[in-house]
Amino acid sequence: MSSFNWQTAWQPLLNSLDQEGYHRWAGLLREQFYQRFVSNPHGDLPRWLAAIDQLPAAESAVVNSQSSEVRVDRAGSLSAQEVESLEPGLRGLMPWRKGPFNFFGTRIDTEWRSDWKWDRVAPALASLEGRRVLDVGCGSGYHLWRMHGAGASEVIGVDPGLLFLCQFLAVKRYTPDAPVHLLPLRVEDLPRPLARFDTTFSMGVLYHRRSPIDHLLELKDTLRSGGELVLETLVVDGPEGYSLVPEDRYGMMRNVWFLPSCATLLRWLDRAGYRNARVVDVTATTTDEQRSTDWMRFQSLQDFLDPDDPGKTIEGYPGPVRATLIAEKP
Ligand code: SAH
Repeated sequence: MSSFNWQTAWQPLLNSLDQEGYHRWAGLLREQFYQRFVSNPHGDLPRWLAAIDQLPAAESAVVNSQSSEVRVDRAGSLSAQEVESLEPGLRGLMPWRKGPFNFFGTRIDTEWRSDWKWDRVAPALASLEGRRVLDVGCGSGYHLWRMHGAGASEVIGVDPGLLFLCQFLAVKRYTPDAPVHLLPLRVEDLPRPLARFDTTFSMGVLYHRRSPIDHLLELKDTLRSGGELVLETLVVDGPEGYSLVPEDRYGMMRNVWFLPSCATLLRWLDRAGYRNARVVDVTATTTDEQRSTDWMRFQSLQDFLDPDDPGKTIEGYPGPVRATLIAEKP
């Protein structure tokens, strides 16, 4: 029997939502958790939860999320038995895509250097100190910890992937009282409008949405008036109005719909009712930032690019370039 209990795992968040008068959202979340864990249980979940339970005991551990590795440590050494089960516990949560993490000295070199993305995004933001933050499509929650480390008063991530939830829980068990939560849901499952968050992030999600302007509108509904949107997505060169819609896959990824030019993205933000939209960074994704590692042994970016022209994807489209934009809700 795993120590995870879906009925109590989110209780502190549900209590604070109830206290603040968000009864409808708290009630909806209870139903959605029931759907996720009871009506439609995921076959691999028991195995992942058992892997988490193999990790060292939580007593007197600390989580440090202020530098590039999100790190779990504790004073004193692990017992021989803890040392022995640490690696199989962490390996049981493979593939690790978003990180890096470090558990008691074992570094998890993830497929993505998500810290590089954070280093591009963070300098352009309003300070997160004391803010309520939402991260839509948060993956393993690596950036949730960095947002917490940057002083946010509440951090909520939304991602439907249950392996990502388990990777998040592997950290969270060492800091159960931190106001950092991952909801195993899709952004479409949030009630509208929430109008709750001071900053909402959507990183690496927009190009997976069939209706990108509707995505911008759903993000706007999560923000309070004056709140900040941080949008990071794939872009292509081109004039205002241009966007690439791949014929099928893009860089082997299914489910890629719109890759706009920056000028087009600014127009979309404007039409969705944001103000002061600006591009704060444009960076090509390299095979140093996204690659296979010992903790993610499947193919990665290098295999998705044209071997004769690494500036192109294997399908012949322009190689991945990502832009970060910031805008405000009026
Ligand atoms: N934000 C992270 C991860 C990007 S990968 C980063 O920038 O590094 C995109 C993530 O979006 C995946 O983890 C996927 O599970 C999630 N995702 C896909 N569709 C979603 C939806 N409808 N709502 C919320 N998250 C979604």
